[in-house]
Formats: sequence, structure tokens, C-alpha cells
Amino acid sequence: MTTPNREIELVWHDLTPRLLEVARVVRVTPRTVRVTLTGAALDGFCYAAPDDHVKVFFPEPGAALPVMPTLGPDGLESPPPGAPKPTFRDYTVRHHRPEQRELDLDFVLHGHGPAGSWAAQATPGQVLGVLGPRGSTINPFTFDWYLFAGDETALPAVAVWLERVPAGVPVFAFLDVADAAEEQQLAITADTTLVWLHRDRGVDGGQLEQAIRGLELPPGDGYCWVAGEATSLKPIRRYLRTLGLSRDWVEVDGYWKRGVVNLDHHDDDDD
Ligand SMILES: Cc1cc2nc3c(=O)[nH]c(=O)nc-3n(C[C@H](O)[C@H](O)[C@H](O)COP(=O)(O)OP(=O)(O)OC[C@H]3O[C@@H](n4cnc5c(N)ncnc54)[C@H](O)[C@@H]3O)c2cc1C
Repeated sequence: MTTPNREIELVWHDLTPRLLEVARVVRVTPRTVRVTLTGAALDGFCYAAPDDHVKVFFPEPGAALPVMPTLGPDGLESPPPGAPKPTFRDYTVRHHRPEQRELDLDFVLHGHGPAGSWAAQATPGQVLGVLGPRGSTINPFTFDWYLFAGDETALPAVAVWLERVPAGVPVFAFLDVADAAEEQQLAITADTTLVWLHRDRGVDGGQLEQAIRGLELPPGDGYCWVAGEATSLKPIRRYLRTLGLSRDWVEVDGYWKRGVVNLDHHDDDDD
């Protein structure tokens, strides 16, 4: 029997800055807003992997257009001295409909920050800047099982992971959300165990870790993808590293950090 290809491939894309118009704004849940962006500038947009994400550039309060990035040979660069600085944050592609020239981004309304504040007032006709995705991490979908977990910021990626794993492969998904109203209807196969954890019922905040530790994983090679608040992910990352899976098969990314403005890189430290 030949061993299936379980290589995770990173594919790079051209970095094109795009100005896009808000076509629609839909409240998916009380704390999540789906913004549909559109425009001819979307032609050529590359979208390949569930966790593909873009940098979104927001207009300053009162301005119609965002300050766009300065790009150099290695990507994003600091603006020249004296030039206005762009305000940007990372967001996951929830849907891309190339024929309709539409891109959906789901924003968590967490009550602070330029991105959260912009999303709370988003209206059709407004303009945002988008840069990326810079690259896509391509999963061969040949693993014996999959584990996906995270909070609301990870939900757009987890939703796409769940849509893409082939039927017949065991999938375990844990989504840690504020309360029952934050649950979303997700497309899952009959082999998927999807568990919603509600923080309003949590006692010590470690319910995602407890749920993952409590899972009896099937034999064979598994792929784990977890994202959310950086500090709370550290014990999960440490635990998943003990499972004996190849390091490339365990992806744990801090998507934001409590008390930190714009965690401007994925926090994927090993500690
Ligand atoms: C690769 C990647 C993909 C991401 N995809 C998404 C996505 O699809 N949808 C999404 O909503 N977010 C996503 N995020 C997270 C998002 O980029 C951060 O939450 C970002 O900090 C929001 O910016 P802000 O301007 O609202 O807040 P900031 O100005 O960055 O932060 C202000 C304050 O708000 C707090 N804060 C930030 N985010 C949250 C939060 N979610 N809940 C509670 N408090 C928070 C910070 O700790 C800080 O104290 C992603 C992050 C990464 C790295």
C-alpha cells in the first residue's frame, strides 16, 4: 500500500492592493457582521485554502478612503517618513464568488479597535482596502482525521475547513463562542462531531483546552488547526505537540491577544 501524500504545501501569491466597495452588510449573529465587498479590482484575487486571509485597510474616522499600504520587494513596508500610516487588520476570507466579483468577510463586534468599530457602522457604498492573501497553506485532505477549534475569529476558517474535508473522514470541531446566540449554521458531514462551547457557561475560561484534552482521538495521522486568543491557546499548543504528530500537522495561531492592539502577526510561538 502506498503512503498517501500528507505534505502541507505553502503557495505564494502576488500581492495586489485593492480598493473595494461594500455591497451588503448582514448581521449573521448578534456579535458577527458579514461584509460583502465588491469591485472590478477583485479580478485576479487568489483564494485557495480555508485559512486564507487578507489585510483589510480602514479609512480614518471621517475619511472616505483608507490609506493604502506601501509595498516593497518583500511585501508590506513602513510608509516613508511623514506619510500617513495605514490602519489595517487581518481578516479571513469567508466566501469568494469570483463570477459575482464578491468577497465576504465576517467581523466580530468586540466593542473596541478600529476594525471592530468600523464593522459596527459598516454601510453599503463605503470603501475598504484589501491586500492579499499573501499565500495559501494547501492541505492534501488525505489525513485519517481532523481537529479544528477556535473562537469567533477562527469561525470563518473553521467553517470552510468543515466544508472541505471529504465525507467519511472523522472530524472533531470545537467552537468557543460568547453564548448560544453566536452559533452559526455550518455545513458538516455525517462524520463530523461539532461541539459549541459557550463562554457564558464557562467557569475558568479554559473550556476549549478541556474539550480538546477530553477527546479520544482515532488512530492514524491527524491534522489539527486551532486559532483564537493567543494566550489561551498556549496550553492547547503544548498539549497538541505531545500527540506525536508531525509539527507541520499541528497549526495553532494566536489571532488576537487580550489587551494588545493589532497583534500584527500570527502568534504561533512554541511556548
Ligand atoms: C490570520 C488572521 C485571521 C483573522 N480572521 C478574523 C476574522 O475572520 N474575523 C475576525 O473577527 N477576526 C479575525 N482575526 C482577528 C482580528 O484581526 C483581530 O481581532 C483584530 O485585533 C481586530 O482589530 P480591532 O481593530 O477590532 O482591535 P485592536 O485595535 O486590534 O484591539 C483593540 C482591543 O480589542 C481587543 N480585541 C481584539 N480582537 C478582539 C476580539 N475578537 N474579541 C475581543 N477583544 C478583541 C484587543 O485585545 C485590544 O485590547 C484574524 C486574525 C488573524 C491573525
